[in-house]
Amino acid sequence: MTAPPNVQPAAGLPIPVLPEFNGTGRTDAYARAAYAEGAGIFRIMPAAVAVPSTTAALRDLVLWAVRRRVPLVPRGAGSGMGGGNVGAGVIVDLTALDGCPLVIRPEARRAYSGAGVTLRDLAEEAARAGLRLPPNPSSARFATAGGMAATNAAGPRSVRSGSVRPWIEAVELITGDGDSLTLRRGAPPRCCPAVDRFMRDAEPELLAARTTILARFPKTRKNSSGYALDAWLASGDLLDLMIGAEGTLGIVTGIEWRLVPSPTRYAGIRAALKELEALPKVVPQLLEVGPAALEYLDASFLRIVGREETGGLLMVEFEGDEGDSLEERLREARRILRPHSAALEEATDRRALEELWAIRHAVSPTLAGRDDGKRSMQVIEDACVPVGALREYITAVREITGRHGVEAIIFGHAGDGNLHVNLLPDLALPDWRRRVTAIFAEVTEAVIELGGTPSGEHGDGRLRAHTLQAIYGPEVVSLFRLVKEAFDPVGILNPGVKLPVSGERPFESLKFGPDAADLPGDMAERLREIERSAGYGVSRLELAGPL
Ligand SMILES: Cc1cc2nc3c(=O)[nH]c(=O)nc-3n(C[C@H](O)[C@H](O)[C@H](O)COP(=O)(O)OP(=O)(O)OC[C@H]3O[C@@H](n4cnc5c(N)ncnc54)[C@H](O)[C@@H]3O)c2cc1C
Repeated sequence: MTAPPNVQPAAGLPIPVLPEFNGTGRTDAYARAAYAEGAGIFRIMPAAVAVPSTTAALRDLVLWAVRRRVPLVPRGAGSGMGGGNVGAGVIVDLTALDGCPLVIRPEARRAYSGAGVTLRDLAEEAARAGLRLPPNPSSARFATAGGMAATNAAGPRSVRSGSVRPWIEAVELITGDGDSLTLRRGAPPRCCPAVDRFMRDAEPELLAARTTILARFPKTRKNSSGYALDAWLASGDLLDLMIGAEGTLGIVTGIEWRLVPSPTRYAGIRAALKELEALPKVVPQLLEVGPAALEYLDASFLRIVGREETGGLLMVEFEGDEGDSLEERLREARRILRPHSAALEEATDRRALEELWAIRHAVSPTLAGRDDGKRSMQVIEDACVPVGALREYITAVREITGRHGVEAIIFGHAGDGNLHVNLLPDLALPDWRRRVTAIFAEVTEAVIELGGTPSGEHGDGRLRAHTLQAIYGPEVVSLFRLVKEAFDPVGILNPGVKLPVSGERPFESLKFGPDAADLPGDMAERLREIERSAGYGVSRLELAGPL
């Protein structure tokens, strides 16, 4: 697919002379290299790095980029998996924006956070007021508010709370014209060129294509792929298009969150399933009991940590307050699970529950730390299928990866039908890239056949941009382009993310193998250490060192 004429291809950019702005700008190789990777598979040297201190400075940068037609890559902690946080343009690091303001308003059950505030800081402040944000991405320690909104992030608790989408009341952003805009639920947005273009060029087309959109969108419990046209049709709020847009429609500077009171009681049960076939039988029944989380660890991971449960482990958590019938729900879960389980373990307080969950929390660090010639790659890592199709999906992944001789580790949010798959190709094999590419294509096909989406919570990034045509069809993808052109008419905001640009292929510019771009000094090893230790909270400017 080729890019429309106004979208600039990002590759091969000359190093720009950055404008004067309030913040830090760097074009030296060390600083650029420090931002060449995020989580996920890519390594792309950016042309420059800009760390604006204020929203006004960010706006100046966007206006400069529009004039010079320079691509900008908005970036939070860089923990996103799909490659939306790396690119050949100017990385715009938002982690210091406006000093990361955070205000909790307990009486209104609202929080306001700047884009760079981490979920951990937000959660800690909210907890002081007895409140919390219901979705809980496991990356809370470093994931930023802007990154979570931009990917429509979710977590184990999303089986009950949904993704962050319904918990965002308003976003402040800078459009691709350099305008400041606030989008608030239920309120018409202020007129500005982006909104005018949207209403003139995109809205009538979207409304006319309502039936096609609703038919083409996956009927899954979660979806972070494409622009959320289905959510926009349901709400009429432009905010819903901005959530999950991965920095391609605007740069988020602030977010108003909805909070709820924290529960006071917890209980859980962990089942060692006798066989995989039990999964589609028990998950729909357990969903009826109202779990707060419903997570699965496949035998492929259990083998790595020396366990032998062949049907995998299913973990169910319940939450409530005094007077809630947690014991009854636990009893019901036990009744559902017992016939299908080789062993059951229960917890009725927070500490015991943490112990049951420890093995789930160990997955990412265990995989990221692999250094035995096999590297953990997030390629088919975030598909979400209808819950009834879970067994078929796991069977397809095992068959396809087995046929291509690549080990695959499967785990994740069974209650939402959203499973993460980490591939562990042997980098000593000369054709590992061919195998991984083939697996990506075949698993994507299987996901489409099962009525799924390639991303339940991580977003498309650069990795999945090329799959949208197959998932949504050409008509819906052309509607995506209308939305993009309304908010980013020159095409400076994260080109190649969500919508592909010509000349870019998903398995180029990888951080693995002999073709990986050279980085100065020991930067490659330092970036690898961030990956091993999930140290995404590290300041990349500090990593680069002074000029
Ligand atoms: C160990 C580990 C565990 C994880 N667990 C989860 C999980 O449970 N659930 C989950 O959903 N994800 C998870 N992730 C993925 C990741 O943490 C989330 O996608 C997170 O929301 C990304 O936040 P970030 O600040 O790192 O954003 P980045 O990675 O920096 O950016 C992600 C995308 O958002 C865009 N973006 C960032 N900030 C802005 C902004 N201010 N305005 C506009 N666009 C912006 C970027 O351009 C990019 O496209 C995990 C990752 C790791 C490494």
